[in-house]
This record gives sequence, structure tokens and C-alpha cells, in this order.
Amino acid sequence: MPPKKILVVEDEKALSKILKYNLEKEGYAAVTAADGEAGLASVGKEKPDLILLDLMLPKKGGLDILKSVRGKSKTPVIILTAKNEELDRVLGLELGADDYVTKPFSVRELMARIKAIFRRSEPGGSSAAGASVLRAGGIELDPAKYEAVVRGRQAALSAKEFELLKCLLEAAGRALNRDEILEKVWGYERGMELDTRTVDQHVARLREKLGPEAARLVTVKNVGYRVKND
Ligand code: CA
Repeated sequence: MPPKKILVVEDEKALSKILKYNLEKEGYAAVTAADGEAGLASVGKEKPDLILLDLMLPKKGGLDILKSVRGKSKTPVIILTAKNEELDRVLGLELGADDYVTKPFSVRELMARIKAIFRRSEPGGSSAAGASVLRAGGIELDPAKYEAVVRGRQAALSAKEFELLKCLLEAAGRALNRDEILEKVWGYERGMELDTRTVDQHVARLREKLGPEAARLVTVKNVGYRVKND
């Protein structure tokens, strides 16, 4: 499946860059447009799966773009608004925006909103059985049901152990370093003093609970961990 394409229409260069970087890190394809006209042109040209739309834009405002997008498609739109644009936000939702975030927003929060929208748009919605079940060998993880099964038996994982295993399975065999894991599971953000040993302790506990499948959770020297997939 090709990665989902997300169009970022945002004139603040720094923010646009941060969004593109993080979207690509999450495995999406990201394209950017720095003003309203370019944004509208990109909607037609790039056919994005989702649009992140700033409202205050040069040349053409975000609400005009939204109107024009809704005139012809159901492409999900998340509007990026400033605190003082409450009226525009309400208008945006009335015009058919799927969600909004208020600047300054947390990138993690925005990524979660994007994921939620894509989940909703999957056939059968968020409860679609098996839609997002992650597997490696005898390990099966169903994020929708919050259920982990090891060789046919339910494993009683704590929330953090579950998230940890999920992020390793999502990496599909790629090694994740401890900082990446901290960021994904614990929401590590700059300035916060979280110890990477936390990760090691949770991995140790997770291995105990994975029993015969524990060997799949491989330590990658000087890096972190990965899940062996074959
Ligand atoms: Ca702006």
C-alpha cells in the first residue's frame, strides 16, 4: 500500500517544515504549499488523502480553500487555527472540516488526530476486525481491542508494555533507538528528564510476558531494540 499523502497548506515556513518532517517520520508522504493559491492548486494536482489547512494564508484564505475542496470531495481536512480565530474555527467546522487544532499545538496531538481520521475512514470504521492487527511470529497485537495474544494465549500487558510492543511491531523489523521509543511510548519531549533505562526495564518485563516468543525482542547493541519478524 502506498503511503497516505498529506498536503500541508501553511505559510509559516518553520511550522510547515516541522509538520513535513514529522509526517514523513510517521510514514506519510508530505507535500507543502505556502499560500492559498498554491494550496488549492496542490489539492487538484497532488490529490492528497488528507489536508492540514492553515486559515490565515496569503493570496487565498483557508476557509475559501475549504469551501472549494468540499464542493467536490470528502478529503479529510484538519484546520490549524490561532487562538483568536475562534469564529473562523466554528465556520470551518460548519463548512465541513473534520477536525481542528489550535496553535501552538503539540505535534504528537496532531499526529494522533490524523491517525484517528484515517482509522475512521477505513472500511468498517475503527472497530473493523483485523484491520490493524500487528503480527510477528506467534505474537498478535490488536490495537483496536487493546489485546495481545502470544501463541494463542492472552498476554496481560500493562498499558506501557502494550504501547512499547506496538511501536516495535509497527517498525516492522527496523531497530528503534531508546529515544525514539521514549518519544513514542512515553511522549518524551525536550526538556523532560526521562531515563532511557525506563525503556530497558519495560523491555525486560515485556520479555517475561512474551514467554516463548521473548527471543523476538532483539537488543540491538548501542541502538535499542527491534522485533524479529520471520
Ligand atoms: Ca498563517
